[in-house]
Amino acid sequence: MTDPTGAGHRPADLPERIQHYIDGELVDSVDGATFEVLDPVSNETYLSAAAGTQADVDRAVAAARRAFTEGPWPGMLPRERSRILHRVADIVESRDTRLAELESFDSGLPITQALGQARRAAENFRFFADLVVAQADDTYKVPGRQVNYVNRKPIGVAGLITPWNTPFMLESWKLGPALATGNTVVLKPAEFTPLSASLWAGIFEEAGVPPGVFNLVNGLGEEAGDALVKHPDVPLISFTGESRTGQLIFANAAPHLKGLSMELGGKSPAVVFADADLDAAIDATIFGVFSLNGERCTAGSRILVQREVYGEFVERYAAQARRVVVGHPHDERTEVGALVHPEHFDKVMSYIEIGRGEGRLVAGGGRPEGFESGNFVAPTVFVDVPRDARIFQEEIFGPVVAITPFDTEEEALELANGVRYGLAAYIWTNDLRRAHTFAQSVEAGMVWLNSNNVRDLRTPFGGVKASGLGHEGGYRSIDFYTDQQAVHITLGGAHHPTFGKHDPADR
Ligand code: NAD
Repeated sequence: MTDPTGAGHRPADLPERIQHYIDGELVDSVDGATFEVLDPVSNETYLSAAAGTQADVDRAVAAARRAFTEGPWPGMLPRERSRILHRVADIVESRDTRLAELESFDSGLPITQALGQARRAAENFRFFADLVVAQADDTYKVPGRQVNYVNRKPIGVAGLITPWNTPFMLESWKLGPALATGNTVVLKPAEFTPLSASLWAGIFEEAGVPPGVFNLVNGLGEEAGDALVKHPDVPLISFTGESRTGQLIFANAAPHLKGLSMELGGKSPAVVFADADLDAAIDATIFGVFSLNGERCTAGSRILVQREVYGEFVERYAAQARRVVVGHPHDERTEVGALVHPEHFDKVMSYIEIGRGEGRLVAGGGRPEGFESGNFVAPTVFVDVPRDARIFQEEIFGPVVAITPFDTEEEALELANGVRYGLAAYIWTNDLRRAHTFAQSVEAGMVWLNSNNVRDLRTPFGGVKASGLGHEGGYRSIDFYTDQQAVHITLGGAHHPTFGKHDPADR
């Protein structure tokens, strides 16, 4: 009988090795190199993956380039591509349980949350499949003189580089719009979590995506990722990952003047005013930093609380955080699973040690009881954290939160904006004027008022400051993955002055 706690759960039919997928074929690396993948509960190698280098990226880009210049994909009617992408969504949806099982095993995400992410991945495909069919472009008329219209075109081979947190969903977030608009792609998934990405090849084949349109190269960022960024035939890079990596990619892409979309790190504030609905604010801010194991770019990892309710908030928050269920990723009762990799676990634990000297620990603070191995971290709460503390300033990307009091709205804004990041902000108040005034002044790409992170797919997604560059989401993704060529047509006679009309001798 299987253990009801999910301990030791291993999905059936796990592959032992995974390959690249290039031009419709599963292939090993040109040099035969591989890298090892661990599962985050046993921290033992369970898989070896092909380790791509420049030679593999060259092959993948050549295939994608061919599919773009010779293949049917970019020239297909939007409706035809849309049908295929809806089939992708159908297949993802029909396999959501298996997908979630694999994702949870590979990444340590709680199974129920991995399931939600699998469904969101299907939704991303559906959304962009619909959007390209509904797409309208601008036409302008200058009466009697000119008509101008926008000829929107796919750009070419898009390089997609993704992180290990919610890997399959974040891949879908780039693959959906890139493919819907008629580009071909090379995906370089994160090396910690290549398992779910290996499913895309079969899904796309079954849905009828032609060979060469989707290509995948596994490998390390510094090798496979770097080769993709520097490849002259890849005019677009959509990157999600750490701000530091984003800076490096920005520099490496500069000589080629590539189109770049950067979704980077965060240290988002949740600001709780004294007039807020405290029950809702506590629930939401607990979920906001401990869901997805805290490995969430938009985590509300700094909570700023107005002094009048600070004592009550801290007490209730700490008590609830202690009740958050840490468990095996496969157990449906689990609320916080295992962090993705021992290196990341060490990083998070080192921040907890730093935090002990910076704030007052009121919950968690290390391994939870009963989890002597694996990358498990108890939901950890530091309070009275000063603004210059490292745990206030730096992205930890784990189940660790810093809580800080404030007195006035001005002080709250200063604290909220006093970090290098600017991804999300969550504001809790029942004062309508303050809610909007604060929202408009806070340096964040996305703001949620009296709400958790719930996002309509039509809205822009992206950060400011060190959290990113450009916006994706809805038609902004369509804009990123297409060129908008302006075509100008003269109506009636020509409207330009004529130069060189007169013989100089006549002057
Ligand atoms: P990371 O930057 O280490 O890696 C991301 C991807 O980039 C991986 O595929 C990696 O192999 C690749 N890479 C690494 N070095 C590279 C290089 N020199 N050239 C090209 N590619 C390279 O990030 P991570 O640790 O995988 O992910 C966590 C980070 O991602 C956090 O900072 C988190 O906030 C951020 N994130 C942001 C968003 C967002 O939308 N803003 C969403 C999810 C995650």
